[in-house]
Parts: sequence; C-alpha cells; structure tokens
Amino acid sequence: LSFFSGIELAPPDPILSLTTAYHADPKPEEYKINLGVGAYRDGQGRPWVLDSVRQAEQQIAADKRNNHEYVPILGTSTYVGLVQRFLFQQEGMPFSTRLLVDEDRIATGQGISGTGSLKVMAELLAKKVKSDSGRAGGRVFIPNPSWANHASIFASSGMEVGTYRYYDPQTQGLALDALLDDLAALLPGDAVLLHVCCHNPTGVDPSDAEWDQILQVVEDRQLLPIFDMAYQGFSHGIAEDLAVVEKLARRMLSSGLIENAMLSQSFAKNLGLYGERVGSFSLITASREEKAKVQSQLKQIVRSMYSSPPCHGSKIVERVLGDEQLYAQWCGEVAVMRDRLKQMRLLLFEQLRNLRCHGPGTTGPTGWEHLVQQQGMFCFTGLSPDQVNALQKQSIYMTSNGRISVAGINEANVERLSRAIAGVFA
Ligand code: PLP
Repeated sequence: LSFFSGIELAPPDPILSLTTAYHADPKPEEYKINLGVGAYRDGQGRPWVLDSVRQAEQQIAADKRNNHEYVPILGTSTYVGLVQRFLFQQEGMPFSTRLLVDEDRIATGQGISGTGSLKVMAELLAKKVKSDSGRAGGRVFIPNPSWANHASIFASSGMEVGTYRYYDPQTQGLALDALLDDLAALLPGDAVLLHVCCHNPTGVDPSDAEWDQILQVVEDRQLLPIFDMAYQGFSHGIAEDLAVVEKLARRMLSSGLIENAMLSQSFAKNLGLYGERVGSFSLITASREEKAKVQSQLKQIVRSMYSSPPCHGSKIVERVLGDEQLYAQWCGEVAVMRDRLKQMRLLLFEQLRNLRCHGPGTTGPTGWEHLVQQQGMFCFTGLSPDQVNALQKQSIYMTSNGRISVAGINEANVERLSRAIAGVFA
C-alpha cells in the first residue's frame, strides 16, 4: 500500500487550466485569442524582454567577477539598498517615506517575486506576531474579489482569512461605503490587504480621496496595512503608483497612530522578469531597535523555507536600479507597456461602441465606459459565465468571472474580439 494512497486529487488552478485549454485548441494561433494569462504581450502578441533587461544581462555575462555564490538570506546589501531607495526615497517623491528610511525603521529583504514576499510576511505574522504579542497576526482581510492566491498564501501559514467588500457589480466600480463599513467592523490588530494599484482582478482602484478615507479607517481601527504591489508603473507611473504608500507614511509620521505597515513588491510585470522570481518585502517598524529584531526573525523564516533567494533576477534589478541610464530607459519601457494597455482598452471600447453593442455597465451611454476607467493589466468586463463560455467556443479565452488580460488584445485581434463580444450580447 502506498503511503500516498490517501492523497486526493487537488483541483486544477483555474487560470493555468485556461492556458492548457488554449494550447489544446487546434485552431490556428492567429485565430485564437488568449485573454487569460496576466503577462504582458507586445503588439504582436509576443512576450517582451525589455531592452534595459537585455543590456543588464549582457553586462552580467561580460563581467568576469560574476559568480553564482549564495547571496545573503535577505538578499545582497546592494539589492536591499537599491530597492529601498527605489520604493521609499525616489527622486521627486515627497519627504515622508524618506524619513522612514532615515530613521532606519524599514526591514527590507529580497523575496521570491511577489508571491514569495507575501509568504514571508504571512509567516512572520502567523508565527511571530501572533504568538509574541497576541494582539495581531491572527486574521487578515483581503478584498472581495482578490487575486486567487492571496487567501491560500495566508491560510496555509495558519491565518484566518476574511474578506471585505470591494467591487460593486452594479457600477463596475469601487463599493466604497461597503468597504469602509467592513473595515470599520474589524478588530485592532487585524491585517488588511490593500492592492496598491491596478487591482487584480477588477482593475478598479480607489481615487486619491477614497484612499484617504480608507486609511482613516485603518488608523481609527488600528489595523495593520499590508500593501501588495504587483503592477507598479502600470497605472500612472513608477513613482506615481507609490502614492498610497506615501500617504500612509505621512500619516505614520504626523499622527503616530499607525506604527507598522508591510509592503510586498514584484518585478515580474514591470521588468518582465516573471520566471526569474524577484521582488521584495518591506516591513515598517516603530524604531531602529524593533527593525533589528524583525529582521532577525525574517532571516530565520527564510532560512527554513528556502535558505536564500535566487540571484540572476536580483543582479538584473541591481544593474537597472543602480545605473542612471538603464533606469531611465526602463522607465520609458514601463511607459510603453502602460500606454499600450491604455490604448488597447480604448480600441476595444471604440469598436464595441461603433458596433452599437450596449455593454453591462451603468456609468455611461455605451455600457462599456468601465473598460477605459479601470486600470492596469486586467479589466472586469461584466461578461457572464455563459457569455464567457460562448466566447471560448470561438477560441477566445478568459476567466469565467469575465476578467480579461488587456495585454492579450492587439490591433490584429481586436476587431474579431469586439465582434464576438457583440455577438454574445445580441
Ligand atoms: N499580487 C497580485 C495582486 C498579483 O496579481 C500577482 C501576480 O499575478 C502577485 C501578487 C504575484 O506575482 P509574482 O509572484 O509573479 O510576482
């Protein structure tokens, strides 16, 4: 009898199964449209290796001093220093996040992309904060809906995962009042996960004024904010997309009512380093002394999970963040991705409007205004599961909740896509 005979078959990951179904579809590649996967594609539907990344790789390959030694548990001091400067001390960024760095209150480490960074933070909350202070670390609340992996990451570390209302299907926008009510009902020390920008899966982000209201409740209720930033640069710009982190820092320094926050960040999308698995976690602590203790615990957590992070992607990041010319080039390339996504939203919107197909939206005359109002890589179209099914029969693939990855749209397929969508609304 096998020791594994009692193991049940786990359900397949819905997004990965969608990709499998797409590849299994015998229709020609030019005919099929994949709007499932959350990875950037260029105007020809191909993955894009950024030129800044290629140059950094060439520099690494040519560097005779390069080797494959282990890096420290929390990443090299070069990586940590550059990433901290990138996140909290950028040129042109307001003063408050800089002060947190100057006060030496932030414990930053290299994580295994966004997922691995969130996992390290979940482990610290579940294993250390909960047991040591008894005040926080037990419960985390994520938006409804959220990236499907959020619940698994925190639950598998032993945290209780709840949700707060976020999306209003009536308006295809933010359910602000419900969101504020739900956060106001939480207990001090509860953690609340906030998508910094380009919310996945809805593309709906709070406005500046709405963030103020949300952070006010976070402060009033003494919640622990966990920022997840997987799409930095895809909304307004690399520095601009950090606005809410800056807002929080300002509150921390002025009222002193919030002393802690966590930020997970990924270079998967904005540097196109998906498979390199490079990102970071930053924990804002109350003091330099507290930071040293938190950092020591982070090291223990990482040591037992994967010992130390991988170093190819982090070397690329070091080159891009550490070189003025490469950095400027990268910012331009992020702008190219951001602009293409916005352009594709607009193109789809215009085609649907020209076809006189009335969409499910309620905020404008065409019913499709939400396509251009939402931000980033994903758009919650409002298509029903039946409509999604009907589109899949025409080789157009998206998740059953009607989420499309805007990067999958290009000038060659947008006409067929709009006609097909108009067809399922007829
Ligand atoms: N957080 C959100 C909201 C995401 O959408 C993703 C990826 O899709 C991630 C985190 C983590 O991505 P990665 O681990 O590839 O950096």
